[in-house]
Amino acid sequence: MNALLTEKHHQIRAKVREFAQKVVKPVIGEYDEREEFPVALVREMGKLGVLGMHVPEEYGGQGSDYLSYLIAIEEMARVDSSMAATLAAHNSLGVGPFLDFATPEQKARFLPAFCTGEKLWAFGLTEENAGSDAKGVETTARLVGNEFVVNGSKKYITNGGSDISAGMTTLAITGEKDGKPELTAILIEKEREGFVREPMKGKLVWKAADNAMLYFNNCRVPVENQLGERGNGFKIMLKTLDSGRLSIAAIGLGLAQGAFEMATAYAKQRKQFGQPLAKFQVIAFKLADMAVKIETARNMLYQACWQKDNGLPFTTQSAMAKLYCSEIAREVADEAVQILGGAGLFRNPEWPIERFYRDQRLLQIGEGTSEILRMVISRSILAE
Ligand SMILES: Cc1cc2nc3c(=O)[nH]c(=O)nc-3n(C[C@H](O)[C@H](O)[C@H](O)COP(=O)(O)OP(=O)(O)OC[C@H]3O[C@@H](n4cnc5c(N)ncnc54)[C@H](O)[C@@H]3O)c2cc1C
Repeated sequence: MNALLTEKHHQIRAKVREFAQKVVKPVIGEYDEREEFPVALVREMGKLGVLGMHVPEEYGGQGSDYLSYLIAIEEMARVDSSMAATLAAHNSLGVGPFLDFATPEQKARFLPAFCTGEKLWAFGLTEENAGSDAKGVETTARLVGNEFVVNGSKKYITNGGSDISAGMTTLAITGEKDGKPELTAILIEKEREGFVREPMKGKLVWKAADNAMLYFNNCRVPVENQLGERGNGFKIMLKTLDSGRLSIAAIGLGLAQGAFEMATAYAKQRKQFGQPLAKFQVIAFKLADMAVKIETARNMLYQACWQKDNGLPFTTQSAMAKLYCSEIAREVADEAVQILGGAGLFRNPEWPIERFYRDQRLLQIGEGTSEILRMVISRSILAE
């Protein structure tokens, strides 16, 4: 029970939980094993109404608050992180910048197809030399007449390479201002000539999600595809990451919840020394510690989200929630493996904790590593 939740939030939780249990859970392990992106499941998520769910109704969305959307991610991650990541990257990184910075024409042109599962959209910041240090971006977009000519590459991009990925918002250097590179956000559709996409395989985590290397070779894009003002790319990135971090936190929370439930069920049924594991106090206390962490994480995340939904500053709270939820996801998944013993160390459709244990590892790295988040949080504390 959480004081911030309304009847509508409970309904969304029930709806997504049922979908995740009945549609995703039975098949996702096989996609993970094959490292295959399940396009059919993404289309089903579109029908469920969770893609673009916080998009206003006039552009085809549900007009939901952000908390509803985070609950949807949490429920998806309780069953599988690849699908939760697909949802989070599309809604927060793909759709988010449109809601905050697109013109009415751009919204009308792009958003409706992002709400149905017909098309996914990505956000491309990371490059070979621009990871934690976003100012290291080297991709350029030179304005020639009324077109940008884009050259460079982007790395690891979620929802960047599949058949239903329609393109991405790219951060590129469009010139120089006050002696510093001027960064601008540009919308690049996959059909643009000179845009090459290469799915990345061999991941430890999110094996059923789509991550891609993207290359621009004299890729020409009309100037109408500029998102926000010229030179505003850094601001767009910061605002997008503030919300994106809430969604990564929700994946951590949902993953921890799923791992905890698995460990609890296993501890109740597995017998050693003539009794269920749960009867041993050392195991029961592990479960108690897991439950405390999850409850704390949930309260912290929902509070940060409430601040966003109510137009209050939430940058520090979002960084704190992402740091905490991702770190407890690691701790809870690790203890869950311990409780399952040897059964936790093999691929196992009945007890898929091995996948959860792998998937949590991205959460302390993507959208701000734990080290970078501690920098964000400590700067805000020291500035007070
Ligand atoms: C599966 C996956 C999906 C992703 N999806 C996207 C996406 O959709 N779009 C996108 O743009 N990017 C995406 N990324 C990129 C992701 O956001 C970056 O991996 C992340 O920001 C870290 O950058 P890096 O990997 O280059 O690590 P680095 O920045 O090289 O960091 C390596 C290590 O050094 C530490 N470090 C770096 N700087 C400092 C410092 N100043 N002080 C202390 N420690 C420091 C880091 O904390 C980390 O531990 C994705 C990555 C993965 C793996």
